[in-house]
Amino acid sequence: MTARIIDGKAIAKKLRAEYAERIVALKAKHGVVPGIAVILVGDNPASEVYVRNKISACRETGIHSELVRLPADAPEAEVLARIDALNADPAVHGILVQLPLPPHIDVPKVLERIDVSKDVDGFHLYNVGALVVGNTVFPPCTPFGVQKLLEHENVPIEGRNVVVVGASNIVGKPMALMLMKQEATVCICHKKTRNLGMFTRLADILVVAAGVPGLISADMVKEGVVVIDVGINRLPDGRLVGDVDFEDVRHKASLITPVPGGVGPMTITMLLHNTLGSAERSVAAKV
Ligand code: NAD
Repeated sequence: MTARIIDGKAIAKKLRAEYAERIVALKAKHGVVPGIAVILVGDNPASEVYVRNKISACRETGIHSELVRLPADAPEAEVLARIDALNADPAVHGILVQLPLPPHIDVPKVLERIDVSKDVDGFHLYNVGALVVGNTVFPPCTPFGVQKLLEHENVPIEGRNVVVVGASNIVGKPMALMLMKQEATVCICHKKTRNLGMFTRLADILVVAAGVPGLISADMVKEGVVVIDVGINRLPDGRLVGDVDFEDVRHKASLITPVPGGVGPMTITMLLHNTLGSAERSVAAKV
């Protein structure tokens, strides 16, 4: 068997075109343009790239974006004051604080200052709780992107064995919760898991988000598995690879995401989705 490759770039493009149409309709009918504010503290080069990509995706889709840049030594109180001002601004439907933050800033305190109705990353404790009970309006973007890929490919979830490798708060844990909501049988593995292959071989759907290049080889999966590789790793020779040995595993899987071009393009697309949804809800609340 050779796997069909899931084209995350094409799926993201299609979804973004749908969102662009909804944005035009929202403006025409209600005079509202969805708006997002991104707070960037310091000059971490990776964060600069992520923020630039997010802002250009917003621009292309018709979402108004505002970048709030603060120096690396900005006091925590200033970050909180900026969030307060954005919380009160009706033109802002989504607020995102780019992580990581400089060490003198308390991340949970900052995330919890964001108005829960503008928390487009879904990292506020309230929205994490809503995810646990299965009714969040802001699913975290990366696992939400994986869910959309599976939906687009018509992969059945209910009753399937899903193994999630990686248990972080931003990918592994929310991913597991989302798949549990869809009534999959979910197993979460992490770096202390003994005999990882024993678990991954049970998977009908395998989601890998560990940050370890080549972690998953063909002998660790069963024939016909659906493989979603969230990992993004830069090798010393400059190549970008996932956590799955793509060339090895693709001959055993039925569907597989490439890196780059799989999950990556979906993450920002889900940020657009969450911001648009927030703007639409703000209009509905006024009607
Ligand atoms: P993290 O470091 O916060 O968490 C990694 C998780 O993997 C931990 O739970 C850890 O226990 C587990 N792990 C580490 N080594 C392991 C091993 N050998 N076996 C089993 N489990 C192991 O990372 P994260 O933020 O969740 O990101 C994971 C990967 O996904 C990274 O490569 C990151 O770059 C990538 N990522 C991609 C996107 C995207 O948009 N495609 C978004 C976020 C993260």
